[in-house]
Amino acid sequence: MKRLFINSSGDIGIGEEPEPRIDSYEVLIKVKACSICGGDIKIYKSVREKIREIDTPFPLKGHEWSGEIVEVGSKITDFKIGDRVARCFANYCGFCINCRLGMPNFCIGIEHEEHSGGFAEFVKFYIPPSGGRGLYKIPEGISYEEAALAEPGTCAIGAVLKANVNPGDFVAVIGLGGLGQLITQRLSAYGGYTIGIDINENKLARASKWCKYVINSSLEDPVEKVKEITQGVGADIVFEVVGIETTWIQAIEMLRMGGRLIMVGVFTEPTKRFVLDRIFRKNITIIPSKGPSPLITPQGEPLIWRDLRDGIIKPSLIYDVFPVERANEAFYKQAYGDVAKGVIKFD
Ligand SMILES: [Zn+2]
Ligand SMILES: [Zn+2]
Repeated sequence: MKRLFINSSGDIGIGEEPEPRIDSYEVLIKVKACSICGGDIKIYKSVREKIREIDTPFPLKGHEWSGEIVEVGSKITDFKIGDRVARCFANYCGFCINCRLGMPNFCIGIEHEEHSGGFAEFVKFYIPPSGGRGLYKIPEGISYEEAALAEPGTCAIGAVLKANVNPGDFVAVIGLGGLGQLITQRLSAYGGYTIGIDINENKLARASKWCKYVINSSLEDPVEKVKEITQGVGADIVFEVVGIETTWIQAIEMLRMGGRLIMVGVFTEPTKRFVLDRIFRKNITIIPSKGPSPLITPQGEPLIWRDLRDGIIKPSLIYDVFPVERANEAFYKQAYGDVAKGVIKFD
């Protein structure tokens, strides 16, 4: 079957590998769509920019996918062939220390590999016999492309829930890639004043449809601008969705006294000039939000399905869809161009 690979020069190509074989607790899914995560882009850029050397093509896994079940293991009762499904979050056991401490997104209790990666024609997924699973059927009316954003959408909802937003709050979001866009859409349901910040005009133009303000931080000082919008006070809440030092410093500086910083961006570089003293003196609370928590409604469906159905999150206004043959272009444009979120479509 086809799988996306990154080669030593940093280009994305389509390679061949054996189709996955399932065991009794697994299902096999024909992938329909897989979206590109910021994490995938970090790998891509590190190879392209020669930060990381690889001599053999490196398979890309992809964890934001949707598809149709084509085979079920003998012990599977919840799913059948033909079901439309998507990965909404990671499996969790419910019993390990992290699950017991209320952090199922950090579950360490399941040894079985969860899934084989969605940048391929087929993906297998493990349904744990006890505990919670991250695979769900896609409700009618939600497309495969939209459902591919179920996992980052769940990340966005979780991050916003942690921020404890109140109506009237000034909430800045630095970084309007896929996750930043999803966060700003979710925030729009709270009646706050959302301020989208990025250096890319196209991403800002998208976000301006649901943000009260947008700031191009390559043209204006975002700290000064946020101060101006908030009458000199600073933002109540800032989401940092980039994961570099410059934007972290901006986040700290644009917060009001006693504000909250929601840490969403993934740091891969060591920090050199970060001054912890500013956090101390501004009495800032830092709230990390890593990965999707299993957020499920009282009715038993992933919260993301409700958001999609109610039109709170509208992925089609965020993503650009590319056929698998154009995967290299999708990665390039998401890393360096106008694409906020690339969705790779497999047929
Ligand atoms: Zn992701
Ligand atoms: Zn666990």
